[in-house]
Amino acid sequence: MTKFDLTSEERAGLFRMLIPELESYYSNTSELRVTPPLDPDEIRKVVRMADFNHPENINDAVRKIIDSLRNYIVHTPHPRYYGLFNPRPNFPSVVADLLTAAFNPQLAAWSHSPFAAEVENYLISEFGRKVGFPSEETDGVFATGGAEANITAVLCALNNAIPGFANEGLFSLKARPVIYCSSEAHHSVIRAARTSGLGKDSVRMIDADAKGAVRPDILEKSVLSDRSEGYLPFMVIGTAGTTGTGSIDDLHGLASVAQRHSLWYHIDAAWGGAAVLNPETRKWVSGIEKADSVIIDVHKWLSVPMSSSMFITRHREILGKTFRITTDYMPKDAEKLEITDAYTHSIQWSRRFIGLKLYLSLMVFGWRGYSEIIEHQTEMGNLLRKVLRENGWIVINHTPLPLVCFTDEKHKSDPSFTRNISEKIIRSGEAWVSVYPVNGISAIRACITNYNTSPEDINALVKSVNKARIEIIGG
Ligand SMILES: *Cc1c(COP(=O)(O)O)cnc(C)c1O
Repeated sequence: MTKFDLTSEERAGLFRMLIPELESYYSNTSELRVTPPLDPDEIRKVVRMADFNHPENINDAVRKIIDSLRNYIVHTPHPRYYGLFNPRPNFPSVVADLLTAAFNPQLAAWSHSPFAAEVENYLISEFGRKVGFPSEETDGVFATGGAEANITAVLCALNNAIPGFANEGLFSLKARPVIYCSSEAHHSVIRAARTSGLGKDSVRMIDADAKGAVRPDILEKSVLSDRSEGYLPFMVIGTAGTTGTGSIDDLHGLASVAQRHSLWYHIDAAWGGAAVLNPETRKWVSGIEKADSVIIDVHKWLSVPMSSSMFITRHREILGKTFRITTDYMPKDAEKLEITDAYTHSIQWSRRFIGLKLYLSLMVFGWRGYSEIIEHQTEMGNLLRKVLRENGWIVINHTPLPLVCFTDEKHKSDPSFTRNISEKIIRSGEAWVSVYPVNGISAIRACITNYNTSPEDINALVKSVNKARIEIIGG
């Protein structure tokens, strides 16, 4: 049965159709509506038109899927998608994912995919170097996203703090372990606490200050009071670029607290971690080098397709201590060679070659290419702040990163104002923005997530919000 391969002619015909289609999407993304109409009935009808009792020709099927993708998704690769860190994937990274799918390397065991495994090791060590970890100590693993990478961090911290945790799990605990982070931390931290069996109540989300950062002295007080009540503080999580407002915690201050109390210091830099690739923005995340572990999402600011994140640590032994299980059926080459089997280092077992899209992007664009897109997007963020202020808006979040939360002075206390504006914009298809409460004030949240977003796009966004404001308040 070679039917599943298609014939050579069918494959050639498919590529002839596919390449111009991809080309058209890449050249003309900005001509599409950013947002689809949300009609579940219509969309279900389209999906269910596929009749699995009557298989169809590959080109027809693919053409239908392309139409549906064009019509029924929010186009996160659009330069006017001002959203939730979802980037435009650079084109080489798309090709890398296609190659990965076709060759389908299995990364669980090094000996099955030595090239792929070493690519990922190389990337982890290079990013460890950029973060500022000592190279002989650096270790890490690719994950499907920040959520998995944060769970990895919590499990490592537990295994670091509690001897016997790997074998006895929660039964080895004599006191309740506690994690500390900011109230602005990502909620995957709560998920990590739940998944690891600790539960949500083991997370102390310390109220962030007016700038969206947690105050190290307040966090420390909480650690001291928990200790005196018999809890077991074991982990501090700092955020470099919060999801809501792009705030960066006091990474040095948190490092001192973690050090004084022997807590595992993890930095969630899912989005903002890319700042280490540009000499100017690197200063904003100073202190990141003091962490015990860091996560950086590749599918956010590093502009590749989902899903991809890196967990990087300065403790060589911790991943093995946390995840290693030996079995009779897995290859044993790791015993004879100086290599690591990825399955002994992570939650995943069978693994996709997640790192190729980053490797190929770096081969083609280099560190300099990344440094340039980070600088460009940062400039677009600054431009957006400037043009908004010129148009009577006020920016109410505090970050140098390209994430802008704004409203206007007159409607500060009316959450329906910003909600109505964002709904109008989403419905118009002109852009995608969201709303987020900053210190209790509802703001429109716009993040530059696309390396192609230009001054023209920024001006168009301000025009859209101006127009929506007039429609709402009259005038
Ligand atoms: C996006 C994000 C996460 C979650 O990462 P996923 O890749 O969506 O799983 C965690 N932390 C922060 C700060 C984020 O911005």
